[in-house]
Formats: sequence, C-alpha cells, structure tokens
Amino acid sequence: MSLSATGHADSCLSIDLGAIVSNWRTIDSLSSAATITAAMVKANGYGLGANKVAEALAQAGCTEFFVANLGEAIALRQHLDGLGQNQPNIMTLHGCHLDQLDDHAAFRITPVLNDLEQLSRWRMFSQRQSDRLPALLHIDTGMTRLGFDTDQIDWLIENKSALDGVDCRYVMSHMVSAEIADDPINARQLDAFNEVRQWFAGIPASLANSAGSMLSAAYHFQMTRPGIALYGAHPADLPTDRLTRVVTWQARIVQLRHAKAGDRVGYGGTYLLGRDSRIATVGVGYADGYNRKLGGKATVLIGTQTAPVIGRVSMDSITVDVTDIDPAHLRHGSVELLHDGYDLSRMAGDADTIAYEILTRLGTRPARHYQNA
Ligand SMILES: *Cc1c(COP(=O)(O)O)cnc(C)c1O
Repeated sequence: MSLSATGHADSCLSIDLGAIVSNWRTIDSLSSAATITAAMVKANGYGLGANKVAEALAQAGCTEFFVANLGEAIALRQHLDGLGQNQPNIMTLHGCHLDQLDDHAAFRITPVLNDLEQLSRWRMFSQRQSDRLPALLHIDTGMTRLGFDTDQIDWLIENKSALDGVDCRYVMSHMVSAEIADDPINARQLDAFNEVRQWFAGIPASLANSAGSMLSAAYHFQMTRPGIALYGAHPADLPTDRLTRVVTWQARIVQLRHAKAGDRVGYGGTYLLGRDSRIATVGVGYADGYNRKLGGKATVLIGTQTAPVIGRVSMDSITVDVTDIDPAHLRHGSVELLHDGYDLSRMAGDADTIAYEILTRLGTRPARHYQNA
C-alpha cells in the first residue's frame, strides 16, 4: 500500500484482519476440540481497533470476547449489534461496580466477578430481575491483582448457596509467568486452580492467556483467553514461527536534506555527524506512539535497505541517516517502521518495554487501514 492512499496522515498502520483470524485459528488448534478459544480485545483491541478485530473474529466463529471495563464493553456491543450477526458474549474483566448493574444487563454484558462484594451485588440484582444472570468467577492463584483471594474462596466453598441465582459460566484464573515455560510458578498455579476448581464441579474453567495456550493441554481447560498472540506478537521465550504478522507501519519522508560532517541532529544536538550525510526527516514521532527511547537504536526499511534512526525522537518526527540508501528507494517517499528485520519484539526491546505497550500506545494520529476483512 502506498502512503498516498492514506490521505492526509503522515503515517499509516496497516492491520491485517485475516492474519488476526489466522492467529486465532492457530491458537485454537493448539488445544483440543473441547476447548474454545476466546479473544482479548481490551484496550481497543491492543490498540488495533476492537470493533474491527471483534467483527472479523466473530465472523470466523469466535463467541467470547473480553474487555477490561464496561465502557469498552458497551462500545463493542453497540458496534456488533449494528451488524446484526449472532451476538457473541462480551465479558468485563473488572466486574460490575456499584452503578454498573443496569447497564451490564441492558447491554447483555457478562461481568467477571472478582470478590464476594461483586458476587452478592450481582446476585441480588439478578434476583430483583427474576433472572439468572450470567457471570464468571475469577479466582486469584498467585497474581495478587484481581480475583477472589484464598479467604474469600474458602468462605464461598463453605457457602455455595451464595452462587444461587447466578448463572456461573466459567471459573477462571490468570497466569503470572506463562511466557517462561519452565517457571515453577506455572505448575503451582495449575495445582492451586485445580484444587479450587474441584469444588465447582460442572462449571467450565479457563486459565490460559496466549502464553498459557502454548503450554501443555493441562493448562487449556474449557476456554483459553489469548490476546497478544492474536496480534502477531509472541510472548517471549515461546516459539514465534507459527504466528502471522498483523501490523505494518509506514511513514512519510517529509523532508530530505544534506548535512555536513560536524553538524548535529535533533533536540539536544545529541547526534554529531561524522561525515557529510543525507538525512530523511520522517513524519512520525512519540505523539504517534513511536517510542522516544528508539532514537539512536531503531532502524527503518527503505526499499530493500535498512537505515538507522539518529538523534532524538521528536513529537512529530524522527531523523534517519539515508546517506547509504540508493536514491531510487528514496523516491518512494516513505519508510517502514516495522519490518522483518525489526519487528514488534525488537522495537519493544529497544524501547525497554514489551510488545503489548508498543501496540496499546499507538496514537490516534496514524491512519489505520484494514486488510483482508
Ligand atoms: C490481558 C489478559 C489476557 C490475555 O493475555 P495475553 O498475554 O495478551 O494473551 C488473558 N486473561 C486476562 C485475565 C487478561 O487480563
């Protein structure tokens, strides 16, 4: 795709929905037919567009979508309702808060209940509606972040009637360190989860995120909940070869200039040119989600050649040393910020962060183009 197709923007994210569907199928194929594969579309579908992603996955047969909060859930429900397809389930990981009961019900959103207070609130509401409203139960097995703690789970096991009147669709937990396959915490969490789960016989279970889906079948239960793998980034330490790349990011060269040996480039003059050079100023900066730490570390692809990003990353632009680049390549007027030699994981590493943060910090300024819908 050429940048001229993106209209007035200076950078363009091209998002391959077919690749997301293919990655979802790949994760699905890692577990048995008895395990269904949900999709994490929180944080606007990891920055790539929750509506578009969920729409493509729903069409491919995904029936379970997770978001973090009610606002995200309602936006997604309204979008999917407008399409009139079979309506999938939408779950809020943060559960139902005091003023959120009516809207959970009105928009057919299923809360993930994280403690006894949320459970009793949802149960009483359910009774007032004379309905058995659906919910998931989140049990903390070591993350110490969300979910019933040990005391509360012990209480619930003694007082199972506290669940009466709620349609408990799944018991779930979340893994601390699944991306490190041989971390002993994985087996400990699995044991803890199985231990609690036996008290909720008959209720399906869910434990695995993307990385957990790549562990053995013992971690799969009745539903896996991948996020990052759908978007083509691999949890560290686990094999990358089977996922398809989802995002390309192209940016316009807004100025080409000559500079002399001894000139300094960018804010703070941190980069001193050691030779007469050609500099391309590219229209993407930290305001677009191009991490400021990438200055002096990243490379971009121009035609078939790579070139280094030099000096500091500005709000709206970066500077690239294109002295060694074939002028024929420069004539296309754009560069690739993510490319085969420099994928999301590399970019994340250079920015001292993880692919999740690179994706979810992509700005609103880059144009977004969806492919293979
Ligand atoms: C975000 C999240 C996931 C997905 O994690 P990935 O590492 O992106 O696969 C699964 N479960 C819960 C509870 C989450 O918060």
